[in-house]
Amino acid sequence: MTAATALKTADYFDPLDAVDYLDARYANVAPEEVIDGALKYFGRRFALVSSFGSESAVLLHIASQVSKDIPVLFLDTGKLFGETKRYRDELTKLLGLTDVRSITPDQNDLQAQDPKGILWSQSTNKCCFIRKVAPMARVLEGFEGWASGRKRYQGGVRSLLPHFEASDGRVKVNPLAFWTKDDVLDYKERAGLPDHPLVADGFASIGCMPCTDRIEEGESERAGRWRGQAKTECGIHLSLSENTRILSKS
Ligand code: SF4
Repeated sequence: MTAATALKTADYFDPLDAVDYLDARYANVAPEEVIDGALKYFGRRFALVSSFGSESAVLLHIASQVSKDIPVLFLDTGKLFGETKRYRDELTKLLGLTDVRSITPDQNDLQAQDPKGILWSQSTNKCCFIRKVAPMARVLEGFEGWASGRKRYQGGVRSLLPHFEASDGRVKVNPLAFWTKDDVLDYKERAGLPDHPLVADGFASIGCMPCTDRIEEGESERAGRWRGQAKTECGIHLSLSENTRILSKS
């Protein structure tokens, strides 16, 4: 029995123990080894979360080289660009991913809190909560670890990202945390991965249609997200207690 298996057969799951274990082995390795290590540790209780945005192809390609069966969770908020959904389908086919899951908001939440579909124009925090945070929290109940494509160079709260972090009873895995923008672009070019169709149209970071703008030269990559607001993150990377605190002020 390996040390990883021994930890996993315990009656409880402690994300801090898991981070210690994973850090000791994979804190300073390449992204594919981070994903491979997480898959060995969590097995089918590990997923990748992808927005199928402008840089998503790189992490999806790396993951597909490790396992094409890895569950990929895609939040279909009901407010996405059609181009993003077509890009999802294109990459899924190209990379041979077999378990891409589209996660949608709860219909009762939408009926009760956003019957006209314009909540984003009144409170982006409340809209993100019912369309992103709550659906993500529900689907993650089936997982102990999940990875996303956040990188330190994206700045803000991302500037100190480690490979592994404990949050809300799970382990968040950031295989690309230490990559630079050039690393991402080089990999994308070498792998021959297609661009999100909106990149050529001036969009750098792509989320929901009402909350995504083009950026001007010299602006940061995420400057077009929730433009004009203090908001910089949708909330899926915050703990539920942080989201509750933000909502109480909205
Ligand atoms: Fe709503 Fe905008 Fe958040 Fe999408 S990004 S869930 S439209 S507030």
